[in-house]
Amino acid sequence: MASHIVGYPRMGPKRELKFALESFWDGKSSAEDLQKVAADLRSSIWKQMANAGIDYIPSNTFSYYDQVLDTTAMLGAVPPRYGWTGGEIGFDTYFSMARGNASVPAMEMTKWFDTNYHYIVPELGPEVKFSYSSHKAVEEYKEAKALGVNTVPVLVGPVSYLLLSKPAKGVEKTFSLLSLLGSILPIYKEVIAELKAAGATWIQFDEPTLVKDLDSHQLEAFTHAYSELESSFSGLNVLIETYFADVPADAYKTLTSLKGVTGIGFDLVRGTKTLDLIKGGFPSGKYLFAGVVDGRNIWANDLATSLATLEALEGVVGKDKLVVSTSCSLLHTAVDLVNETKLDQELKSWLAFAAQKIVEVNALSKVLSGQKDEAFFSDNAAAQASRKSSPRVTNEDVQKAAAALKGSDHRRATTVSARLDAQQKKMNLPILPTTTIGSFPQTMDLRRVRREYKAKKISEEEYVKAIKEEINKVVKLQEELDIDVLVHGEPERNDMVEYFGEQLSGFAFTVNGWVQSYGSRCVKPPIIYGDVSRPKAMTVFWSSMAQCMTSRPMKGMLTGPVTILNWSFVRDDQPRHETCYQIALAIKDEVEDLERAGITVIQIDEAALREGVPLRKSEEAFYLDWAVHSFRITNCGVLDTTQIHTHMCYSNFNDIIHSIIDMDADVITIENSRSDEKLLSVFREGVKYGAGIGPGVYDIHSPRIPSTEEIADRISKMLAVLETNILWVNPDCGLKTRKYAEVKPALSNMVAAAKLLRTQL
Ligand code: GLN
Ligand code: ZN
Repeated sequence: MASHIVGYPRMGPKRELKFALESFWDGKSSAEDLQKVAADLRSSIWKQMANAGIDYIPSNTFSYYDQVLDTTAMLGAVPPRYGWTGGEIGFDTYFSMARGNASVPAMEMTKWFDTNYHYIVPELGPEVKFSYSSHKAVEEYKEAKALGVNTVPVLVGPVSYLLLSKPAKGVEKTFSLLSLLGSILPIYKEVIAELKAAGATWIQFDEPTLVKDLDSHQLEAFTHAYSELESSFSGLNVLIETYFADVPADAYKTLTSLKGVTGIGFDLVRGTKTLDLIKGGFPSGKYLFAGVVDGRNIWANDLATSLATLEALEGVVGKDKLVVSTSCSLLHTAVDLVNETKLDQELKSWLAFAAQKIVEVNALSKVLSGQKDEAFFSDNAAAQASRKSSPRVTNEDVQKAAAALKGSDHRRATTVSARLDAQQKKMNLPILPTTTIGSFPQTMDLRRVRREYKAKKISEEEYVKAIKEEINKVVKLQEELDIDVLVHGEPERNDMVEYFGEQLSGFAFTVNGWVQSYGSRCVKPPIIYGDVSRPKAMTVFWSSMAQCMTSRPMKGMLTGPVTILNWSFVRDDQPRHETCYQIALAIKDEVEDLERAGITVIQIDEAALREGVPLRKSEEAFYLDWAVHSFRITNCGVLDTTQIHTHMCYSNFNDIIHSIIDMDADVITIENSRSDEKLLSVFREGVKYGAGIGPGVYDIHSPRIPSTEEIADRISKMLAVLETNILWVNPDCGLKTRKYAEVKPALSNMVAAAKLLRTQL
């Protein structure tokens, strides 16, 4: 039995690629410097896999930015605005598409399935002329071969590529992306021919869209594409890789009947129903790549359980046709546990990052070849057992409290309109009240203060003094600007999830557990390993300090349970919703403590609620139900006069508007910088609902300062749809990435615009 890895992180164990990219972009190093770092990383990854004993080692899973953008380059599908005139695509054109340049903005970026990785969305229209314009796949194959490693080159499959694209401007409504299949397949054929000539014996096509709900026309495109490619496959083994969810039954049928395909890869961690499909029948003679090692998480594999799965599959496909694999590319997990110096041994024994997962895959494959590494397996069994029985994991009180939530609705007793009336009596806000989303600019000084406090270089007293001064500055500024509902600016927080995770039980933090989010940007998700509880109040000290500085309402600022969950590595030994309910109870305690401390407006951010929506429609309702329920749990116990705000970044929630309403918040602020017309329908629903709505009136992602007229114009457009008494005026999101030189005039114009419109109403 053989072993296979779907893909590997590119950033390097200490984010070497990130620093090389950013230095190159800043003009501080040359293209050669960047290429050298990249080549060293690739070489060390290939050697690492080869030394571990992996049989099918991927190549071309490295990328300077994104694998979908690499495919766009391979196909020469550069949008005309980048002025590319043909030839091999170099860094200039490539990074202009990824990041924009002085005169042209970047291409759109969107989430890669339900991961936190973002890809560059291809823009395709009837005019695009495809040509083979990046030989990266072939070059990387040759590069590995020269190092003595015969790899499996990985390509984004042609059908998934088109399904993940968007129609170019002007043809949005009319253009069928799949109509381009016939035009891109000749390029794929050229690439395949070159790979074959270079010595490749296997090629992997990633076709993850097969796990989505596809219609018959889309499924036919797969049949068509691979029949068309079949002639160029002769003499080659071809693997179609799927991941992230179950493959639906109709897609399974299509997939297993594809011409010229000799191996199929499945995610068997998330795809439990796929396992049944395989057991019900798998084409004889084809290789089954069984993804039993989780690429989406940092937990050590339960090797005994995986082995049982593999043994069952061996009975279906035979020993020589079964390949042990990862559930998806390891891009979505952290890189190497050896660099975690701060985690204790027990916790570490429960974990496996990408480097450790390779070893797990190899160990599993060796067992079925009769070479079981007994020591490795018994260590693993001991670690699994210690995780199951550890008192650090289980907190009975928390378990009981979470279990007691079941079956109950947890909803505030009165309607939102009645509550808004009660709140208005107390706060007496003007119409079109102004506010901000929470954070104010994070200066170098602030970051230094937090760093020095953490490193115990300054005392707690000095730290509190510095933060207090900052809060005072932010409060005074907001008063000068005449903003109605104030924030304290979040100067004590490095990150909206980490800040809470650090104060909750059941969370652990890594030093180097970075995961690529997009381009050179990485995130370091906390690890939720145990039952979550809140030993003591987390924000009351700062929020009440801030409230004491002003007579205006000061918003308490919390991160909601769903967002904390979705931006962490979550334990895999209980359902996600149970963990979410536990976090909800911890946040509920905090909400109630804030209320008791005299905070009358509390914002509970759910920036990541939308992104947790599952890939398959059939699972959507269940997720939304427990996610929204978790949010309501946090604030169902507050007084009518306490105003609950929530904030969401992602603006595309037309399809989940009923769930948003069901959150039953008093005020919801959302990103709306691009004045998306589609959002209008959401607002109309909001009118019926009666809650306050604050669609962002300017984009905080750009340094541009919007004028008063521009903002007033935007507010007027909103007033055409929304009732005056429910509209709030606020920016799109927090201001932490901006400079004061931008924030002051922008907010000043925002308040001026609100005041201008008040006089006209
Ligand atoms: N309150 C957070 C802030 O203002 C919200 C951030 C977010 O929505 N991503 O920074
Ligand atoms: Zn936001």
